[in-house]
Amino acid sequence: MSSRGRLLVVEDEPSIRELLCASLRFAGFTVTSAATGSEALQAARDDSPDLVLLDVMLPDRDGFEVVRRLRSSGVRVPVLYLTARDGTDDRVTGLTIGGDGYITKPFSLEEVIARVTAVLRRTRPGTEQLTCGELSLDVDSHVVRRGSRVVELSPTEFRLLHYLMRNSGRVLSKAQILDQVWSHDFDGDVGVVESYISYLRRKVDGTEPRLIHTVRGLGYMIRP
Ligand code: CA
Repeated sequence: MSSRGRLLVVEDEPSIRELLCASLRFAGFTVTSAATGSEALQAARDDSPDLVLLDVMLPDRDGFEVVRRLRSSGVRVPVLYLTARDGTDDRVTGLTIGGDGYITKPFSLEEVIARVTAVLRRTRPGTEQLTCGELSLDVDSHVVRRGSRVVELSPTEFRLLHYLMRNSGRVLSKAQILDQVWSHDFDGDVGVVESYISYLRRKVDGTEPRLIHTVRGLGYMIRP
């Protein structure tokens, strides 16, 4: 399972939004979501996603307006529109009010993942390598090294380490970690985060200097 980009899912229908978020996380993406156009504008600026999946029919303003506003404030993020198939969204034929394509509902999750992957491949710079001190993580090949030693991680451990390293120097709460690393419908508590942090420590942080820090009462942080 690959960890391949930050997505913003904008959809006002809760069941569709949750399904998309859970499936895309499970497919290895980092996902945030918004239910209205205003929330989307805020999130696109705050979370700097690599791609936005944007429902056209939103309660406050439509998706095209959202993109117009993003572009006029200089935000260049790629956008895939989610549209209804019933012909009411004829405007999509002229699509392109700054978008990179559209997916019609009902869609299959395989289709969404394939389209997202294709756009990201086109728009994102090549291999992403994250480093923290002597620890390195290659996003595409999944190779993690501490110094010259290759460390074998389970998919969950990899996603956890990737999330920590993407946010190097920032304190992440256990709830945030649970939300981003485990799928949305995961029926567990933050105890699982503590367990996985301890597995990770054993595998990647057994030598000085320690990189994964517990910030008492707040959460965890990785930093050199
Ligand atoms: Ca809608």
